[in-house]
Amino acid sequence: MEKTINNVHNKTLTNKFLNELIEKNFNWAKIGNLPTSIPALAEQDPNLFGVSIHTVEDESFNAGDYDTPFTIQSISKVFALLQALIDNSEEKVFSDIGMEPTGDLFDSISKLESFNNLTPLNPLVNAGAIATTSFIHGKDYDDKFNRLKELMISISNNPTISVDYDVYRSEKETADKNRSIAYFLRNIGAIKGDVDKILELYFKQCSLKVTCKDLSYIGAVLARTSGFNSLSFSGVEIPSRYFRIIKTFMFTCGLYNESGKFAVRVGIPAKSGISGGILAVVPGKMGIGILSPPLNKKSNPLAGMRLLEDLSDRLNLSLIQ
Ligand code: GLN
Repeated sequence: MEKTINNVHNKTLTNKFLNELIEKNFNWAKIGNLPTSIPALAEQDPNLFGVSIHTVEDESFNAGDYDTPFTIQSISKVFALLQALIDNSEEKVFSDIGMEPTGDLFDSISKLESFNNLTPLNPLVNAGAIATTSFIHGKDYDDKFNRLKELMISISNNPTISVDYDVYRSEKETADKNRSIAYFLRNIGAIKGDVDKILELYFKQCSLKVTCKDLSYIGAVLARTSGFNSLSFSGVEIPSRYFRIIKTFMFTCGLYNESGKFAVRVGIPAKSGISGGILAVVPGKMGIGILSPPLNKKSNPLAGMRLLEDLSDRLNLSLIQ
């Protein structure tokens, strides 16, 4: 069934419109590549392409493979940050993790990968995300994971969210780079504790399965957080300031070293994942979930970004006008 609304900048949002955007952008996926860093993700179907929109008025629009589960990967970094803020404080978290998209001075020519004052650049690059995960509280590592999963379940309103253990094991077996990062972080004092356990928690959070529909629902929740002092999820009162913080990082750092270009072209907070997912939030209006596994050289979903660009253009969604 097709639903139509006319409340988004007076343009019409329909399932048919989303289908047209999928058709228009499908070919972009052909010039992308599946990731090789996690072998299980290289087995994904490159032709999957789905999009869901959930508006703040609770209407939903879907097209393509919107109901196909995939692992959330780096999109989980946003929720680990929220959990870390809940469990600690803004001061504590950002005393060990930076807030800048680039850690270099204005006239620096040093490599983007260099560390600034021996803290990871921001919570959405792997180094910062692993440090963020290490901030999650719990009586043991199962408890830490369950608390994060419960938060995700509560925000997504989907109690069936669970781990894809094939992807989890695949990442665990091949994670030399993330292991190097984590051991280096402990060496510089940015994380404390059992490095292997922290990494396992991080791999598990990345292996949680979601659909475009879940992401769009989560995005709509994030689109509605202003105007409150706090919001209650999984039995916890979360200051709305924390939601503002995670959306700000999505805007400035959500697409790694392509975040600036994405902000110019699309102009809304978003977070990509290496399995091809994108979570996007249009504050006050809607949440968007996208899946298209082939990635560009910066490990962002090619067709998904193009679709978002069209959507933003046609519905005039950019925050910066
Ligand atoms: N689990 C992946 C990793 O840490 C997540 C990366 C991503 O989605 N960009 O390598």
